[in-house]
Parts: sequence; structure tokens; C-alpha cells
Amino acid sequence: MSAEPILRLENVSKRFADFFALSEIDLEIQEGEFLTIVGPSGSGKTTLIRILVGIEELTEGKIWLRNTRIEQLPANRRPTCMVFQSLALFPHRSVGENIEFPLKLRKQDPKRRRARANELLDLLHLPQSFYEKRIQECSGGERQRVALARALAFDPEIIFFDEPLSALDFRLRKDLEKELKDLHQRTGKTFVYITHSLEEAMIMSDRIAIMRSGRFEQIAVADEIYARPVSRFVAEFMGEVNLFDIEGMASGGLKGNGVEIYIKPGDSGHLLNLSAGMRGLLMVRPEAVRFMYSGETADFVVKGVLRAEYALGSRTQYKVEAPNGDELAVEKLREDRFLGQVGDQVMLGWDVEHTHMITED
Ligand code: ATP
Repeated sequence: MSAEPILRLENVSKRFADFFALSEIDLEIQEGEFLTIVGPSGSGKTTLIRILVGIEELTEGKIWLRNTRIEQLPANRRPTCMVFQSLALFPHRSVGENIEFPLKLRKQDPKRRRARANELLDLLHLPQSFYEKRIQECSGGERQRVALARALAFDPEIIFFDEPLSALDFRLRKDLEKELKDLHQRTGKTFVYITHSLEEAMIMSDRIAIMRSGRFEQIAVADEIYARPVSRFVAEFMGEVNLFDIEGMASGGLKGNGVEIYIKPGDSGHLLNLSAGMRGLLMVRPEAVRFMYSGETADFVVKGVLRAEYALGSRTQYKVEAPNGDELAVEKLREDRFLGQVGDQVMLGWDVEHTHMITED
């Protein structure tokens, strides 16, 4: 990746009547990066991507493609391309005609077009015999690959994806997620992808941008967002999580305001960097929490009653009720299942290295 961003947004806003769908967005996307924008419905993902492709006008702000301002450039003059969920393929035409469409627009000669279409069929793992096949005879996954081949035929600098896999069944979606990641690596193109699915984002992306109400709440690599979210919103958006309201004490320790947490004497409080009187949210993911058997110790311990157990295939999830009624989540690999039963009094423990403190909420 070069240091110079391929795309840079400065202070971009979009207003519909008096409603701000995007508010003062800044973003830099590096050349060759796979950036995924995730956020709940209505957070502004589609609006942003439509502005970037040029099919929606911004209200305010600047967009640079390398050193050129592009916010006033119409969609057909931008070196970008978009792949939609609906795909927008020509159903009565052949796979080959669909892939070659952008090349035909550029008046490339038929022999070169055909050669490029064949290359792209190979790249997308579609047999060459598909060249003659009608789109309406293709399955959902095959159509998706054709749409990708056609996007690549445009040879765009950046490909934008608007939930392209959301209409596909689970298995196919999982396969195509991996193929897309692989395709990204093989082509070296810049991919900007929007989705509701965090898992999709985690599997494919170099970085994830979490959107909330027209702003970015956090932009970072997947691991960072998962392990060190900046807010309750991001923590909860990134899957199951246990959050405790905490206050720092003069002794350097911590006090739980909700669930009572027993903190091992020592410097857990200092390690979490919460000074006296400061409040924060202590976060621990369910897979980092363990059931404590007698004689075991942990930096943090809470008591509870095991209320439910759910088999999730390779993992088992547990719901534990804390004395104040809060529900805590624990997740274990199948082979590390808890040996007790629903209704048992349990002790849960975890260590400071699996703990994250959120202070900006
Ligand atoms: P989803 O995941 O449901 O597709 P999204 O994050 O893509 O949602 P957008 O489609 O960008 O969200 O919409 C952001 C907000 O802007 C929503 O509240 C939506 O109602 C509003 N909005 C979008 N387009 C228009 C429009 N043309 N006129 C008025 N409001 C709009």
C-alpha cells in the first residue's frame, strides 16, 4: 500500500431537506485497500457510497481521487464502478455479452473483448463454456461472479460494493466472501464494500469503518475494533459482549456500579488506566470468560446462576444471571464445555489482558 490515499473525503455532508444523512465525514482510503463500511440500517452507508460513485450529490465537502477533486464529476466520468445486490445484468443476453459490455462501450475490437472475457471467466472460476450461457440460466452465485467479472472489465480504479451477497443463501455467501477476498488480493484493486454483516466485514476487510447516524464511530483493522472498541455502540455492534459500569477508586482499584466484580488485589485497576472517580465501561468478550472451578483464580470474578446453554455447533454459549439480574454471556469451544447444569451457582472469571476499558461513552 502506498502512503498517498487513492480516495480522500474531507468534511462531507449530505442533507435531505433538514435531515443530515451524512455529517462532516472525513475518510482516507489507501490504494489497494479492502475497506468495509458497516452500520445499522439508516446509518448512511448507501448514501455515502452513492456520493462516492457519483450518483448522488453531496451537500458539502470535498472528495479527492489522488490529487484530483471529483465531487462535481458525473458518475460516467469517474474511474470507479459499483456492484449492487440487484447486479443490474442484462438477463436475456449471454454471460459473454454482459462481461464485454464495458469493453464494447469503449469500442474495443471483438477479438480483444473475447480474450479479456475469457481471462475474467478464469479469474472468477467460471468455465469458458459459460460465455454463451444466458444470464437467466445462471444460478445466483454464478450471476454474482458474472457481475464481478463485468465490474473488473471496466478496469476501474476503485470498485464499490453495495451488499452484493445479501440475497444469497448462507453457504454460497460464505464461499463468495472468501472468493472476494482472494479476488481482491489477485487484482490488487481498491475495494470499498458496504454490508450489515459484521462477519462478512471481518472475513474480508483490511479495515472496517463503523457508521452510526451519518458519522464514523470507529475506523480500524478488524481485530482492533473487536478487541478495543471506542464505545458501547461499537462493542455491541461487534457481537456478544459483557459490559460493566465501573468506577476507579483512590486505591487504584475498581468498583463495579452494577454487577459486583471481585477484583484480585494487585494492579488490575492501574492496568486498566481508570483513575479515581473516573467512570468507564469494562468490556470482556464471552470467549474470554471462563467458569471457575474450586482453587482457580482470575483477575476479575463475578458470581451468578447458569440460566441457559445453547449449542452453536463448534461452540457452546451460556447465559449467566448476575445477582443484580444482568445477563452475562460466556462462550466455550465444544470440547471445553462447562461440566455443570442449568440452575447451578457459578463463578465466572477473566484476566486483565482480555479486558478493555471504554471511557468515551
Ligand atoms: P440500509 O442498511 O437500510 O440500506 P443505509 O445505512 O444504507 O441503510 P441510507 O440508505 O444511506 O442508509 O440512508 C440514510 C438515511 O438517509 C436514512 O434515514 C434514509 O431514510 C435517508 N435517506 C436516504 N435517501 C433519502 C432521500 N432520497 N430522501 C430523503 N431521505 C433519504
